[in-house]
Amino acid sequence: MSTDMSSAMSSGMSSGMSSGADEACSPAGLRTAYCGALRAGDAGRAVSVCGWLARRREHGEHLAFVDLRDHTGIIQCVVDGAHDLRSEQVLRVTGTVRLRPEGTANPALSTGEVELGECEVEVLSAAEPPPFSLDARAETDEAVRLRYRYLDLRTDRMQHNLRLRSQVNSALRRAMERQGFVEVETPLLWTPTPEGAREFAIPSRLQRGSFYVLPQSPQIAKQLLMVGGLDRYYQIARCMRDEDLRADRQFEFTQLDIEASFVGQSEVLAFVSEAVIEAAAAVTGEHPPQIVSMTWNEALDRFGTDKPDLRFEMQLVDLLDAVAGTEFNTFKAACVRAIRVPGASEWPRSRLDALVERARQLGAAGLVWMRVRADGVLESPVAKYLSETEQHRVVIATAADPGDLLLVVAGERARTCKVLGQLRLDVGQPVVSERPLRFVWVTEFPLFEGIDDEGRLVAAHHPFTMPHPDDLDLLETDPMSVRSQSYDLVLNGWELGSGSIRIHRADIQRRVFTALGISDEDAESRFGFLLGAFRYGAPPHGGFAVGLDRLVALLAGEDNIREVIAYPKTQSGADLMSGAPQPLTPKQLAELGIRVVSPAVSEPPSPSEPPAPSSPSEPPAPSSPSEPPAPGPSRA
Ligand code: ASP
Repeated sequence: MSTDMSSAMSSGMSSGMSSGADEACSPAGLRTAYCGALRAGDAGRAVSVCGWLARRREHGEHLAFVDLRDHTGIIQCVVDGAHDLRSEQVLRVTGTVRLRPEGTANPALSTGEVELGECEVEVLSAAEPPPFSLDARAETDEAVRLRYRYLDLRTDRMQHNLRLRSQVNSALRRAMERQGFVEVETPLLWTPTPEGAREFAIPSRLQRGSFYVLPQSPQIAKQLLMVGGLDRYYQIARCMRDEDLRADRQFEFTQLDIEASFVGQSEVLAFVSEAVIEAAAAVTGEHPPQIVSMTWNEALDRFGTDKPDLRFEMQLVDLLDAVAGTEFNTFKAACVRAIRVPGASEWPRSRLDALVERARQLGAAGLVWMRVRADGVLESPVAKYLSETEQHRVVIATAADPGDLLLVVAGERARTCKVLGQLRLDVGQPVVSERPLRFVWVTEFPLFEGIDDEGRLVAAHHPFTMPHPDDLDLLETDPMSVRSQSYDLVLNGWELGSGSIRIHRADIQRRVFTALGISDEDAESRFGFLLGAFRYGAPPHGGFAVGLDRLVALLAGEDNIREVIAYPKTQSGADLMSGAPQPLTPKQLAELGIRVVSPAVSEPPSPSEPPAPSSPSEPPAPSSPSEPPAPGPSRA
């Protein structure tokens, strides 16, 4: 293994994370000790340990060193060399803990001062040679690891990530319960909900021709719990969306889903803040600072995105005043903004040209770069078009120092900010695992995010989101400028989740439906049961959903959520281990009243995704289900 599991676990413990072998949990059954828990103070103890054979090295003529691994770490056992012991066999070793001879301690192992001597070895289970070396996980194709996920799970990294996930879940539960939330399970076999993603359909056997859908989220169910008087609901809920997969998206994902009655936005934000801070503190041992908040407009202005990464500066600077009245045509625009890249004036011309090209690809008319020379003068292909005063004002506005590089974009506001926001990430964003954790609330999203092909407004969150009270009058006259009472939680540039205050008044709901082009009949047929319930007394309510896979990935320092999910699917939705999805048998199809008109497997499996093995000893697949690193997740 690349790192010592026991040291990974103990570092986890020192940072507030307990390993499976903490003092409260003593070994039982076939063993009297955990491999990774033995220390010099245990010398003289007779113990039985169980686990997998991680490594075997010959030791002289008659003895062998066997490293035995369990979920807590590794212990070296000195065994009779005559034993026929092989990698990944399951062993029970009974022996006496003793100090390793002088000079042979291994400081890389938490058990490195001791070993087990006078060992009796029992082979509990034979093992074929594993299809990949657990020590070489990093170099092993992901397709191979997913196909033999049960072996991959034995590695330090997966052990650490899944245990961290469990810690996060229990911290979230603790925080929600402390705040008076009640856990309620909502159905998986359900009916369409209005979040806009494609849903998975499940045929009904008893009512042929009818289908359930798997919930994209418990949205309507939880709102009905509020009508039902549950007051504060939470659930660690599985949600299913039949959408194209990305590094930060799976068909099934997990949310901490909450809803509360008789509260407004600030209370919902406080409930969620307490939960995620508790989770972060539980696994890092550090209490993240109070979560800051900014409006959607401010986020766009300062960071060029609604998912600001606050771990680094390089904020967008407004240059309109600095270049007011300029003769330089490019800067005679509605919006002129810059970012300052500290110390980057030495970047070669080729790198700057690549940035200009990138800005064009992102939709800008161009990009102006300016090097700030030692004497404070700007060096740039456009410097000759800017007066000395203008150049001086640009340097002052950006607080630029000699040696810095300025990147300037001009044009329409939203596009300009977005291009600079992306360039800011391209040149400055730290890797996912880099601390600190910087949570931020983004509030006051627009109620509508655009207009669809049929000319209808599209809800930015969902159709039950309450408009901002100050903008209600604009609903019919200027709908695109209406702000909503919806909010996102962002962590280090990743959107962790969304929520909103819901509409509980029939008159406002009708106006929003009308704006969205949803007729009364339409509304009745799609969400009739929710609207019907609202006629019997709906409390004002609001809620939120935190994407757990993303939260855990960020806390684990992983840039791909597959690393924190026990059995994830590949980009094409395949489970390489189980072989899902699979065709049904003719008998199953007949029972469901389904005739498959296209071939059961409509597309051949991609070369990077071999079908699941019929026997585990089949040779491993050659290539990986390569996916790009996580971009910022989309709002839903
Ligand atoms: N149902 C929403 C989602 O899944 C969250 C919410 O509004 O509570 O994103």
